[in-house]
Amino acid sequence: MLGKIILALIALGLALFLLRRALGGTKPSEPASKAQDPGYVRLRSCRICGAHVPQSEAILRGEHAYCGIAHAQQGESE
Ligand SMILES: [Zn+2]
Repeated sequence: MLGKIILALIALGLALFLLRRALGGTKPSEPASKAQDPGYVRLRSCRICGAHVPQSEAILRGEHAYCGIAHAQQGESE
């Protein structure tokens, strides 16, 4: 009898846990929105046109960053 109540409580707790996890399925979008925060992704401004590009996509030549290969070549020829 008591065992059944305990089992029922465990099942209820498990159900609530799974329900919370299912409802919390929207939470992983939080880090995604953080990733679009300029403070999270380091932005570099192109030396030629000033466009802001993520450092991972920027063309880096020494101290300078460029938005694309064309501006990198333009910057090098100066
Ligand atoms: Zn540029």
